[in-house]
Amino acid sequence: MMPSLQFLVPASYFIAAVLFIAGLKGMSSPVTARKGMIWAGIAMALAVLVTFFHPKVEGNYGLMVIALVSASVLAWWWAKVVAMTDMPQMIALYNGMGGGSAAAIAAVELLKLHSGQVEMVPTTLLVASFGAIIGSVAFSGSLIAYAKLQGWMRKSWRFPGQQLLNLLVIAATIGLGVWIMVDGPTPLLLALFFASALLAGILVTVPIGGADMPVVISLYNALTGLAVGFKGYVLEIPALMIAGIVVGAAGTVLTQLMAKAMNRSLGNVLFAGFGKADEDAAGLSAEGEMRSIDATDAAIQMAYAEKVIIVPGYGLAVAQAQHKIWELTELLTSRGVKVSFAIHPVAGRMPGHMNVLLAEAGVPYDLIFDLEDINAQFPNTDVALVLGANDVVNPAARKDRSSPIFGMPILDADRARNCIVVKRGQGTGFSGIENLLFFEDNTRMLYGDAQKVAQSLIAGIKALG
Ligand code: NDP
Repeated sequence: MMPSLQFLVPASYFIAAVLFIAGLKGMSSPVTARKGMIWAGIAMALAVLVTFFHPKVEGNYGLMVIALVSASVLAWWWAKVVAMTDMPQMIALYNGMGGGSAAAIAAVELLKLHSGQVEMVPTTLLVASFGAIIGSVAFSGSLIAYAKLQGWMRKSWRFPGQQLLNLLVIAATIGLGVWIMVDGPTPLLLALFFASALLAGILVTVPIGGADMPVVISLYNALTGLAVGFKGYVLEIPALMIAGIVVGAAGTVLTQLMAKAMNRSLGNVLFAGFGKADEDAAGLSAEGEMRSIDATDAAIQMAYAEKVIIVPGYGLAVAQAQHKIWELTELLTSRGVKVSFAIHPVAGRMPGHMNVLLAEAGVPYDLIFDLEDINAQFPNTDVALVLGANDVVNPAARKDRSSPIFGMPILDADRARNCIVVKRGQGTGFSGIENLLFFEDNTRMLYGDAQKVAQSLIAGIKALG
């Protein structure tokens, strides 16, 4: 390597690492998120570009260009055409790709070790093997998460002895890893090792369903980051190490936040079968009947209210109703109604889903409140308008011990004086369980697509003059 390159490569990696961290910091607030994305994008471009000058890639330029161009074109096209509601599964797939790449790099390095092309001290071999396991688990697990979010697979799939089988497969994977450490990798051993790790990812993910998918998705995000970080260590590429560690750390914090939002420990989510009832059982069946309201009456209730809290959920994303809801909010505010938005941490299908939609519509951040900041306000609220949300407002989480979501913190829309629920029909939420809120005395169902209903509410309020 030319002396100037000797300096250029590590210096560029250092700048990329600083930009990654600054980018991630920017993404922690909706105000600076766009800037954060740009910084992280520049960091990635710099890290990729400078890798062409890395001593280890000499001679592989053609392959690198083909991989880069084809992947960039595909990712660009897909990101352009993907519907906003399909974004969560796209992210799950991208997570999986990161894990899969880390596992593939580990496979190549271990094969090189077998053929004597490289040498590894025991620590490096340990890191390579461990990275291979978590990369493979994150890859196959994320593919299952993708299939579930895409609706290609049942949300949870269980059979007798499942936990025992899972433990055996995990133990076999670790055992094969230890064997590789002791005797060195052979192609057969490596094939068994990777097959076993991939199977572990599949088996651990298939039973997880219902409301706890967010925890699993963020866990795979964290695992992918760690796997990439380990690969950085094995390949001695600091930028890869730093980027991986940053993603791994951020993913771990997100996993903790998601688990807290569901009031579960990670072990509980992975091994205790939370959400096991989802589409197979539905907790206690609700008593009473659902009562409906039409848009004109709902508009009158809201127009003469002092305080309204809007609870958006996944249906808001499906209907793309965010702009209409902001128009409705402005109209109500101009009549002196105090309007706030209540966001549940797992509302929608990806962390921050509702915040992104509301930001897109220009809703000011000071009108948006997290669960713990707004729940106490529901009893003093005239109307809680639940828009395409379901699981995150289900009082079964508080009232029904047999419910699969019992113990999950919810937005207390049922405690408002009046609750209006906007949805298209009798569809359940992601967890597949019945919602007790719809049967409460103070609840009225306003059926229809959220965007069309919002339009009717706007027309109804305008008609009041
Ligand atoms: P839910 O999935 O519980 O409910 C959405 C509701 O929206 C449905 O009941 C549906 O009823 C209604 N809906 C759908 N389309 C429309 C439309 N066009 N107009 C009006 N209503 C519509 O959503 P929540 O946000 O309450 O809860 C999120 C769920 O997703 C939780 O269980 C969470 O655990 C899970 N999850 C969350 C992830 C995350 O990271 N945030 C990731 C993966 C899963 P109908 O069909 O009758 O209209």
